[in-house]
Amino acid sequence: MIIRNVRILGGEPVDIRVADGMIAEIGPGLEGPETVDGGGAIALPGLVDLHTHLREPGREDAETVQTGTQSAARGGYTAVHAMANTSPVADTAGVVEQVWRLGREFAHCDVHPVGAVTVGLEGKQLAELGAMADSAARVRVFSDDGKCVDDAVLMRRALEYVKAFDGVVAQHAQEPRLTAGAQMNEGVISGRLGLTGWPAVAEEAIIARDCLLAAHVGSRLHICHVSTAGSVEIIRWAKSKGWNVTCEVTPHHLLLTDDLVEDSPVGAYNPIYKVNPPLRTRADVEALRAALADGTIDIVATDHAPHPVEDKETEWSAAAMGMVGLETALSVVQEAMVETGLLDWAGVAQRMSVVPARIGRLGGQGQPLEVGAPANITLYDPSARTEVDPSAFASKSRNTPYEGMTLPGRVVATFLRGRATVLEGKLV
Ligand SMILES: [Zn+2]
Repeated sequence: MIIRNVRILGGEPVDIRVADGMIAEIGPGLEGPETVDGGGAIALPGLVDLHTHLREPGREDAETVQTGTQSAARGGYTAVHAMANTSPVADTAGVVEQVWRLGREFAHCDVHPVGAVTVGLEGKQLAELGAMADSAARVRVFSDDGKCVDDAVLMRRALEYVKAFDGVVAQHAQEPRLTAGAQMNEGVISGRLGLTGWPAVAEEAIIARDCLLAAHVGSRLHICHVSTAGSVEIIRWAKSKGWNVTCEVTPHHLLLTDDLVEDSPVGAYNPIYKVNPPLRTRADVEALRAALADGTIDIVATDHAPHPVEDKETEWSAAAMGMVGLETALSVVQEAMVETGLLDWAGVAQRMSVVPARIGRLGGQGQPLEVGAPANITLYDPSARTEVDPSAFASKSRNTPYEGMTLPGRVVATFLRGRATVLEGKLV
């Protein structure tokens, strides 16, 4: 098959010949019996998400492996890491293999289960990390995401344990006592609205501690969804010491701010903006963008968190935290990072494909688009303008903060090892 007229990382137009799931030839004027017209779209290596909630098993009313991977494919992703806070929790070889098998069965994208750090995400006892690493799912990323591993001794043990198989502990940095009952970013607006604040220090204190622990035991630490300017400063310092620390930012933390809780196109106190960690201030957003541009923040991860309508369309304090994100991630990154001149397409490819695959130790993903690489390819038209219509999402859930907004860009096609999962913006 020939994918005709695409611009790799935004470069000159070329054709790509795909054979046996690999890129066989790149050049102008390639001929073949079967062709896909790229229409001058940008070709990126298939996107890789380090932080997706697929909700299966247990909350199939919110998302399933099938719908979540369809959503991923529509967003240009060829691999996702499925977070462990399912029901049952993915804390044994049995559960991670179940999720991995579901991923193989539906195959809209690769599914790599994340293993829980502690049994039942309860923060009391280490889960069977070695058994999950040795299972068919080959787990390399471990996280209690949704909850923080707040016990320093357990965190230290987990960091020591994963060294044996080159794993990484991905921390949801939230000091629990500082955030008891927290509803939104602690600041001027939470004070005015009378909502319990989620202070930046509750994130920053855990990040500082865990950077020190990772350095102490010589292990690999990843920080989920960094959201404050102070977190960025701590991670910049840890990296300057040569410590093995990586981190992610979500698309929504690159674009949205906490004043939307008070005043937005969909009114005040609209739980569509309720998310954990919370939306922060404009100064935080600016710091996160700068840090993603200069490499202090390594990657963009969606924290795609589907919730059914009844869990979101309720009063603020009772509403679930989280936003769907797979189908809008690339557009939001274009808006926040590319349109602002902070990143070019090569930079986007690094942060949304190459580096997340490296952190997750995925050999067959995040490879540069070169002859001999797996044909995991995302075609993206940055000149398109799309009004976000949640009813068109492949995700089972609709909890997007971008409904009705016009965002730049559109995923034209996604190829997983040479097989189209999306063509002309539609699932194949
Ligand atoms: Zn989290």
